[in-house]
Amino acid sequence: MDDCIFCKIINGQIPSEKVYEDDEILAFKDIKPSAPIHILVIPKKHISTLMEINEEDMYLMEKIMKAIHKIAKQQGIEKSGFRLIASCGPDSGQEVMHIHFHLLAGKKMGPKIVA
Ligand code: AMP
Ligand code: ZN
Repeated sequence: MDDCIFCKIINGQIPSEKVYEDDEILAFKDIKPSAPIHILVIPKKHISTLMEINEEDMYLMEKIMKAIHKIAKQQGIEKSGFRLIASCGPDSGQEVMHIHFHLLAGKKMGPKIVA
């Protein structure tokens, strides 16, 4: 998608600090981190919201979870833990309309998830 900021990161038009990449998944550091480790994990295919994932793209969710396992080990947080957040639609405050999972780690987090 031409005007999508994450598609521009995927095709290199906008720089990013990549932490993981394969043929269909990309992970990079969030530009405004909310935790010492704040990584965004995205499919390279442009899908605007979690509700737009169709049956034939569902395998990407499995690939994302496998990537998250690898990233957790690479970052050394597989035992200490992390929080995974994905927003969908207006009430969630989703700002970038290209699905993404926030991987947050590196500090003890409280029970409250939302701001
Ligand atoms: P959301 O509110 O769930 O849509 O989250 C969008 C996230 O994208 C925010 O945490 C932003 O800080 C992050 N973000 C926006 N632009 C960039 C960028 N160019 N590089 C890295 N992260 C970005
Ligand atoms: Zn996109």
